[in-house]
Amino acid sequence: MGLHTRLFFSHLVVMIVGVASFVSISKISSPRLFVLHLERLESQGLDLINVRTELVQGFEIAWRRSTIWSVLVGTTAAGGLSYWVSRRIMQRLIEMEQITQKFAAGKMDARLPMSEIPELNRLGASFNRMAASLEGVEARRRELIGDMTHELRTPLTIVRGYLEELADGGIEPSPEVYRRLAKETKRLERLVNDLQELSKAEAGYLPINIQLVNLRPLLESLVEKFAEQLLEDGPVMYLECPLVLPPVLADIDRTEQVLVNLLGNAIRYTAHGSITIRAWTEQSQLWMAVIDTGLGIALEDLPHVFERFWRADQSRARHSGGTGIGLTISRRLVELQGGQIHVESLLGSGSTFRFSLPLG
Ligand code: ADP
Repeated sequence: MGLHTRLFFSHLVVMIVGVASFVSISKISSPRLFVLHLERLESQGLDLINVRTELVQGFEIAWRRSTIWSVLVGTTAAGGLSYWVSRRIMQRLIEMEQITQKFAAGKMDARLPMSEIPELNRLGASFNRMAASLEGVEARRRELIGDMTHELRTPLTIVRGYLEELADGGIEPSPEVYRRLAKETKRLERLVNDLQELSKAEAGYLPINIQLVNLRPLLESLVEKFAEQLLEDGPVMYLECPLVLPPVLADIDRTEQVLVNLLGNAIRYTAHGSITIRAWTEQSQLWMAVIDTGLGIALEDLPHVFERFWRADQSRARHSGGTGIGLTISRRLVELQGGQIHVESLLGSGSTFRFSLPLG
């Protein structure tokens, strides 16, 4: 039996119980009350001896008729009303079921319409919120897979091309060819590692261990490590940081990861001049900036730098081994620690990437 019928019958049972108790109580009590009333009239001196039986009979006939009519009209009206109410609820539920099935079948933009029943409306609203968030996840997943396959295809094509040429004897196996193959496979490896990190960061699975830390020793050791990598005629590395930095609430390993990304980029895109790490406090935040005097980024490209796989110059970045994921991960890591990351840059003059962490 469907919910509609069950609802209707439950209303009907309630109504029958109500009507039956009303009829039986009134059947027992009203003639008695009427007789009592007549007796009171007689005691007041009214002579009803001759008409008393007729009055009682007349009362009973009138009572019966009016009861039959009121039961008939009442049950019809209540039955009709109950049918209408249960139908209305059922229609909404059937509609909800159909829409959720559509959604489950992949129609991600299916949404429940508003309902005039507040409880169903609330259910619909929370379903719609869940649907919107699932739609977002699905869109990001598709986008990521699209981007990923695009990125993986190029190095794979290069490797396959070389291997086929080698197999056909089209090119001579030489250390240079193997180096090229190794470089492309390394690129693939890096891409896969970055993607793993990115997917963890985007899904919010990256464990973040926030503690009260002093970042000055980290900044010093990074400057030392990166300065060693710089060539004789390359840029010079500076650290501009107060001797005593107030402690921040951060995950030191993730902060290091962000700084390594930013410094790695600065070195990659700066041929001459300087790379400076600057740290300062401002409104309960510690700001750190990596400032370079390198290639810079064009004004129209600035809004895209934190997008995944975005590179200012595809061939240049590919040549330098960039995957275009580093900044996306960095932004996510900074946000997970409750900070913000910004970029300012002028094409040809250099770039400044700065990010904040909350002070402890
Ligand atoms: P990649 O691995 O390619 O460096 P990122 O996400 O770290 O990926 O950077 C995205 C792009 O932003 C880079 O390819 C580069 O074009 C640009 N970029 C990042 N940092 C700098 C910088 N310091 N100077 C100039 N361009 C930069």
